[in-house]
Amino acid sequence: MSAVRTVAVYSLGGTIAMTTDPATGAVVPALSPHDLLAAVPHLEGHGVELRVHDFRRVAGASLTFDDLAELGAAIDETLAGGDVDGLVITQGTDTIEETAFVLDLRHGHEQPVVVTGAMRNPTMAGPDGPANLYAAVLAAADPRLRGAGVLVVLNDEIHAARHVRKSHTTSPAAFTSPATGPVGRIAEGRVRLIAAPPRRVGPLARPRGREVRVGLYTVGLGDDGALLGAWEGRCDGLVVAAFGVGHVPQRLVEGLERFAARLPVVLSSRIDNGPVLTGTYGYPGSEKDLIGRGLIPSGELGPYQARLLLHELLVRDADREAIVEWFASF
Ligand code: ASP
Repeated sequence: MSAVRTVAVYSLGGTIAMTTDPATGAVVPALSPHDLLAAVPHLEGHGVELRVHDFRRVAGASLTFDDLAELGAAIDETLAGGDVDGLVITQGTDTIEETAFVLDLRHGHEQPVVVTGAMRNPTMAGPDGPANLYAAVLAAADPRLRGAGVLVVLNDEIHAARHVRKSHTTSPAAFTSPATGPVGRIAEGRVRLIAAPPRRVGPLARPRGREVRVGLYTVGLGDDGALLGAWEGRCDGLVVAAFGVGHVPQRLVEGLERFAARLPVVLSSRIDNGPVLTGTYGYPGSEKDLIGRGLIPSGELGPYQARLLLHELLVRDADREAIVEWFASF
């Protein structure tokens, strides 16, 4: 890359930013983005100017919708000026697939946003944080990724936010796109594109700040539905993580129908990959039966993404018709 490219880096914490807490001997988020970047060799040679923002120092699991709203507003401000070519977010890997998905739904800028983190903390042999940050900055600076929305870069692979999954608890190769594979790779300090990033859906308008809770109910073998009632009066929408292509035990059918008469209830699958179906099986508790009783199929979205999309739609006061349309577009 010859001309100087400007990349903004927002650091939120996570394993990439952890060091040992002497009190417990276990690692906790502590490092600043300056510390993270100091551990990355060779960046100067790429003509990239960095603008660093120390945004949060928390574990990925503790990030909130408020954090995301604040981050989204900061990203808007940074990218609206037009003098920043791309943006990198460093955060805990526990929630990367969720934060990246939400940010992608809201992203309305041409510049790419690249989320990264680390599976091995800096005190371990072979920490992957510096390599991931290096690759993320190169991806964010690459003009060919303009218009690609939010991407996730770890282990020298570039994934679309919509397809990426954390699919291992400890491996540096934990992030995969099971449905499609990565959209690109980084090698020899260069971004190599493999496939076109998926068609973007959105962006969603700015949220109105309404407080919303979306329940997630996972079915299991022998489920008698008693715990479904625990969500009664406690949520504004419900996502069901059903078996296979969208099936639940027959004993849950009436309870779900009652919920669906009052709230949006989205039918998704516990399976990591593939769509819920809409018209193949016809017995009580099948996908066709449940959709007939008012449940909304999640399309290709898994339960965690479906929960986030429903949350984002409800905070914007979307009605049932709009919710059905949004899920259909996935
Ligand atoms: N527990 C860590 C976090 O999400 C895991 C990681 O970053 O890899 O903050």
